Amino acid sequence: MQANVLIEIKSKAIDKTFTYNIPINLKDKVKVGIRVLVPFGNRKLEGFIMDIGDIKTEYKIKDIIDVIDEEEVLTEELINLGKYMSRKTLSSLISCYQTMLPKALKASYKTNINKKYETYVTLLDKNYIPKTNAQKNIIDNIKENTLKSDIYKISSSAYKTLIKNNVIKEEKKEVYRLNDDILKENSNIVLNKEQKSVVNEVIKDKDKFNPYLLYGVTGSGKTEVYMHIIDEIIKEKEVIVLVPEISLTPQFVSAFKKRFGSIVAIMHSGLSDGERYDEYRKIKEGKVSIAIGARSCIFSPFKNLGLIIIDEEHTDTYKQDNNPRYDAIDIALKRAKYNNIPLILGSATPSIESYTRAKLGIYKLLELPNRINKKLPSVLLVDMKNEIKKGNKILSQKLIDEINNCLINDNQVILLLNRRGYSTTVTCNECGYVMKCPNCDIPLTYHKTHNKMNCHYCDYSTFKMKKCPECQSEDIQSFGLGTEKLEEEVKKIFNVNVIRMDVDTTSKKGSHARILNKFKNKEASILVGTQMIAKGLDFEDVTLVGVINGDATLNIPDFRSGERTFDLLNQVAGRSGRGTKDGKVIIQGFNLDHYSIKYASVHDYVSFYKEEMKIRKSLSYPPYIDLTLIKIVSTDYNLAYRESVKIKEYLVKYNIKVLGPSSNINKINNKYYIHLVLKYKKLERIYKNILYIVDKYKLNKKINVEIDINPKKIWYN
Ligand SMILES: [Zn+2]
Ligand SMILES: [Zn+2]
Repeated sequence: MQANVLIEIKSKAIDKTFTYNIPINLKDKVKVGIRVLVPFGNRKLEGFIMDIGDIKTEYKIKDIIDVIDEEEVLTEELINLGKYMSRKTLSSLISCYQTMLPKALKASYKTNINKKYETYVTLLDKNYIPKTNAQKNIIDNIKENTLKSDIYKISSSAYKTLIKNNVIKEEKKEVYRLNDDILKENSNIVLNKEQKSVVNEVIKDKDKFNPYLLYGVTGSGKTEVYMHIIDEIIKEKEVIVLVPEISLTPQFVSAFKKRFGSIVAIMHSGLSDGERYDEYRKIKEGKVSIAIGARSCIFSPFKNLGLIIIDEEHTDTYKQDNNPRYDAIDIALKRAKYNNIPLILGSATPSIESYTRAKLGIYKLLELPNRINKKLPSVLLVDMKNEIKKGNKILSQKLIDEINNCLINDNQVILLLNRRGYSTTVTCNECGYVMKCPNCDIPLTYHKTHNKMNCHYCDYSTFKMKKCPECQSEDIQSFGLGTEKLEEEVKKIFNVNVIRMDVDTTSKKGSHARILNKFKNKEASILVGTQMIAKGLDFEDVTLVGVINGDATLNIPDFRSGERTFDLLNQVAGRSGRGTKDGKVIIQGFNLDHYSIKYASVHDYVSFYKEEMKIRKSLSYPPYIDLTLIKIVSTDYNLAYRESVKIKEYLVKYNIKVLGPSSNINKINNKYYIHLVLKYKKLERIYKNILYIVDKYKLNKKINVEIDINPKKIWYN
C-alpha cells in the first residue's frame, strides 16, 4: 500500500503530493487526514496523508517514517474545502490547510504546545489509620478527586508512602486552559412577531441548504433571533457563529456563555496559542456544540454541523487580506451546501453585493425592519463650514449644547472620530515640508501621550521636529484632528471623566474589557473612540452619539467609500437610545450633501442601496462586474513599474479591461506597491491568464505578484 503525502514546506515550487510506501508496522495507523513524518531529500518533514491505495509510480519510493496523529486533523470535508480554496485564491494547497488548523499543529511551530495536565488524588482505603501526623494531614484533606495542589502542607515522603501502600491513588487529567466561571442562566425572553417569524422560517427548513440574508436594523434583536435558532439546532447538531473580531467583546461573549453555558468555544486573537489549541480541541472532540469566533472559526472541525451564522456579514475582515485570500462567506456557503444546512448572513447594513443576491433570489431575504418596541434615534446634520466661521473648530455649538443636556440628566455620550493620534500631519509653515515615514512615504501622526511621531503602516516612530530639516524654520504647525486631541478638548470643555478607546489604548490584553466596564459602571460620562466603538456596544444610558468629521471616509479613493460611510454612520448611530430612553445623533462634517450621509441620517438603507447601484452601474463596478487586484511588489520601484506595464500589455492582448498601473509612488515598509485592477464579467474568462502570471513570477526573487480576487479594498492614486 502507498500513500500520497502533501509535504509541509514553504516553497511555491513544491506544492504537490509525493508518494510514499506504508510500512507494515504503520499499516493500521496511516489514515487519510493525519500527519506523518517522511524522508524528503536528506531531511525529515511533516506532511498530510491525502489518499491511500495501490499507487503506481515509476520512481523508487521511500517509506513513511512515522505517524504524528492518531485521529485525523483534516476531515474529508476539510480536505475538499482546501482544494477548493486553493483554486479559488490561487494559493498553495499546503497554505490553505495551514490556515485551517491552529498554530500549535503546524510543523514550523517550534515551541511544543503540550496538552495541560493536572494531578488529582483519590482516597482508596477509607479504613486506613494514619501512622504519622503528616499522613493524617494528607488523608484529612482528600475527598473524591482532590486536586493535589489543593492539599495543604504536603509532606512528600508521607505522600509517597501512602501511594506505595495503595491508600491513595494519583491520576493525571487533561485540563483546558480557558476555564471561565460564567454560569448558565435561564432565559425567558419572549420574541416579538417579526422575530418569531424569522426563527420559524429558518427552523422549518433546518435540514436543507438555504442561504439567508437577515436584514435587521440596529437594535431589532438579531442576536436573540440567532440564539433561539441555535437552541433548536443544538438539540441534534453543531453551530458555527462568526462575528467580526471587534465584536468579540466581553459583553457579547458573556451573553452567549450565560445562555448556553459550557458548550460554547470561543476563538479570537486575544487567546494565547495554547488557549486557542484547547478551544480547537473542545470542538474537535465534540465537547462543545457552539463555536464562536472571527474569520478562521469557519474552519471549526465539527463533524455534525447544523447551522452557520455570520453576523455583520458586510464586514471587510471576513476576507483575509494576505495569502490565502479566502472569503469566509464563500467558505461558509461551501460548507452549508456540503452539510445541507442553513447559512444566515445578518446585518443592519448588508453589503451591496449581498443585498443584490437577496434581490435576485440567490439568498432568501429575512427582515427585521423595526427596533424592539421603539423608534430609531433622530439624526441631525451639522455643517462645520458655518461653525468654523463662528470659531468652533472641533465641536459645533449644537453638539456642545446636546452634550451638556445629556450630562445634566446623568446620561452618557459616545463621540466617534475615525482617526487616532493627536494631529494627523506636522508641517513647516515656511516651506510646506511634511514629516513623512521614511519607510512608507506616508505622513506621520503625532501622538501626544508619548510625544512621538508614529507611522500607522509600519512601526517607525521618531521625535516631533523642532526645526524644519529643509529650511531650518522653527515655525512648525500640526494639522488635522485625532482622538487624543478630541479627548483633551472634551475634557477641557465639560470637565467630566472621559475615556478614550482606540488601537493605542487597547493594545494590552484585557484593556478592551476594562475600558467598556468602566464606561458601563459610569466611571466616565463620555467615551471617545475610533470605529472600534461603532459596532456592537450596548449601553442603557447612552442617549447621544456625536460623529466628528462624519464625511472623512468619503475621501478614501475607493469605489466602496460611500458604502463604508453609510455603514459606519448607521452603526454608530445605532449605539444611541438602546435602553428605555430616546436617543439622538449629531453628525458633523463638511460635505454632508452626499447621499450616503443623507440616507444614513434617516436610516434608509434601501434608498441608499438604489442610489449606490446607479453609480456602480454607470462606472462599471461590482456587483455589475467583478474585479481582481494585482499587486506588483518590489523594493525596486522602476523594476516593479516596468513589470506592471508588461503584465498589463499581456492582459490587454486577451481583451481584458485593466485599470492602472497607478503612477503615484505607493511605498509601505520599504516596498513599492503597484496596482492593476482587472474588470470582467466571469472569472473563468481571465482565470487562465492570472494563473499564467502567477506561474511566471512565482520563482522571481526580486518581484512578488499578489493576486486578490474580489478585493475588499482597492485604491488608486
Ligand atoms: Zn521648512
Ligand atoms: Zn511607515
